[in-house]
Amino acid sequence: MAYDKENIFAKILRGEIPSNTVYEDDQILAFNDIAPKTPVHVLVIPKGEYIDMDDFAANASAAEIAHFFAKAGEIARGLGLHEGGYRLVTNNGENAGQIVPHFHIHLMGGQRIKEGSMARGMDGA
Ligand code: AMP
Repeated sequence: MAYDKENIFAKILRGEIPSNTVYEDDQILAFNDIAPKTPVHVLVIPKGEYIDMDDFAANASAAEIAHFFAKAGEIARGLGLHEGGYRLVTNNGENAGQIVPHFHIHLMGGQRIKEGSMARGMDGA
């Protein structure tokens, strides 16, 4: 499957659609999820064109991957999520119900997350 340049996160990266930026550098962007499932629900995306985790792991450079996950940890810490704990989720492909075909991770916290809850359909209870 080829990368779809018209996906919503590609449009956010091009500035065609607004987002609520939490962090940005030359390689990644973090912004608030438009439909938060928890009090803090941030999406972190690479600026490179990667469809999903499978694509990112296979085709991004080791430096890109290291930067992405190091920064994700820093962002979570900066938001205070490390104190109470948080969930990091990525939906990869159809079986996981991935909606946006640009690799992203969800950082979710700010409340106790129900055992076994996934990113989507989570009621936070
Ligand atoms: P998924 O692809 O299943 O991991 O989920 C995509 C996530 O993107 C969902 O949690 C949506 O609420 C979120 N989302 C979709 N459109 C936007 C947008 N324009 N700004 C911020 N978050 C969005």
